[in-house]
Amino acid sequence: MCKMYNAEILTIGNELLNGRTVNTNATHIASKLTLLGFTVRRITTVGDNLKDIHDAVKEILSRNPMLLVTSGGLGPTYDDMTVEGVANALNLKIELNKEAYSEILEKYRSRGLQLTEERLKMAMLPVGAIAIRNEVGIAPGVLISLPGTDILLTPGVPREMESILEKYLKEYLRFKPDIYYYEEFFTVKGVMESELAPFIKRLVKETNIYIKTHPKGHETLSPSLEIQVSANGKTKDEAVYKVKSAIEEIKNKVKSMGGVVV
Ligand code: ATP
Ligand code: MG
Repeated sequence: MCKMYNAEILTIGNELLNGRTVNTNATHIASKLTLLGFTVRRITTVGDNLKDIHDAVKEILSRNPMLLVTSGGLGPTYDDMTVEGVANALNLKIELNKEAYSEILEKYRSRGLQLTEERLKMAMLPVGAIAIRNEVGIAPGVLISLPGTDILLTPGVPREMESILEKYLKEYLRFKPDIYYYEEFFTVKGVMESELAPFIKRLVKETNIYIKTHPKGHETLSPSLEIQVSANGKTKDEAVYKVKSAIEEIKNKVKSMGGVVV
């Protein structure tokens, strides 16, 4: 068994809870981290509420993930309170962060704008935090390194979140998984999910490979399954080999049951 690199995601924003915004940030972060070899154990969403952010962070940290990535609530308005919520949960004071300050000053000055209290708020970070430059927006990302856990705060605007996450993964990532992740999808028709289930169950048990069948057609009338096979390995080749061998076995089984591989 490979060592687990657990990660968690916390998305913050009322618009995520009332259904106005689709939580694409959670999906993006989850897929990036998974492809890097992390196991995303949980995705939590809370509204723009100080206590809820505080409680969520406390709860997540009690599970000791190696990485927690948050998105949302880093902006200049009163309802952007991620920094305060996270700082409260960690018992950290908030202070003016020099790097964040000069980044924000430069961005507004270059447009001939003054630093107001709201703008300055984006430079107020937990003591000891690192500001990660936001190349596509204003509010910098925030990195808090605790013993055993990195906490990365990113803004809610998707392209800003993506840019800061990318920068973190390239330049700051502390616990880099030394495992490789590989996945493949394929489709089969003419076999019911319930028929194939015992075989898949046995294969998963024997091989330690993750196999998931996603029904696409109608179970009894026109069965069609998209099958996802994924594995971690100590090398890329090992992960690829595990996945390809499992796929061969599944395909053979499907054919022997009268189904077709599309
Ligand atoms: P900024 O620093 O740019 O002000 P912010 O950190 O304050 O950003 P929010 O105010 O929370 O971010 O969100 C900004 C925009 O990003 C909103 O339009 C919101 O709908 C969108 N957004 C927020 N969270 C998500 C998410 N999880 N998935 C997709 N879009 C999101
Ligand atoms: Mg918000």
